[in-house]
Amino acid sequence: MDSFRPERETCPICGSSGNCHVHAYYGRRIIDFIHGKPVTQEITILRLVCEGCGHTHAVLPDMIIPYSSYGLFFILRVLAEAFLHRSSLESLCERFCITMNQFYRWRQLFSRHKQEWLGILEDSEASGLDFLLVIAQLPKFSLFSRSFISKTAYSFLQSHQNPPPMT
Ligand SMILES: [Zn+2]
Repeated sequence: MDSFRPERETCPICGSSGNCHVHAYYGRRIIDFIHGKPVTQEITILRLVCEGCGHTHAVLPDMIIPYSSYGLFFILRVLAEAFLHRSSLESLCERFCITMNQFYRWRQLFSRHKQEWLGILEDSEASGLDFLLVIAQLPKFSLFSRSFISKTAYSFLQSHQNPPPMT
């Protein structure tokens, strides 16, 4: 976010650039995993308004998944521990205060996005842990996260589709 300049942004609705300005800031709750336990944090989100078309859009940091109350690192951490088989699934879910169903949804989403990103051939050769390690070792996660959005039109590990742009 350090190099972020609203006036250089391209509007995702009308595609014009140079028309975005700060509109408002709002608080959002996000569940993170800190010092071994789930913690709900309040973070500030910036909302921009485009003077070209009048639409507003939120600028989400990479660790935020749209429509998810859980942070990206929380989910990746749950998956990493599951892939490493360090404990039973029951105790894993208990430690992270999530249901088994939630875990299965995340694991399924992760596999689907992994395949969309790698393609079927490469996907069959990389395990979930392999892919997770690749992501974790990226020097700049934001490059991956932006490329993922431009390839699929949604964020990595986003489970709900974006609403269609209003006309
Ligand atoms: Zn616009």
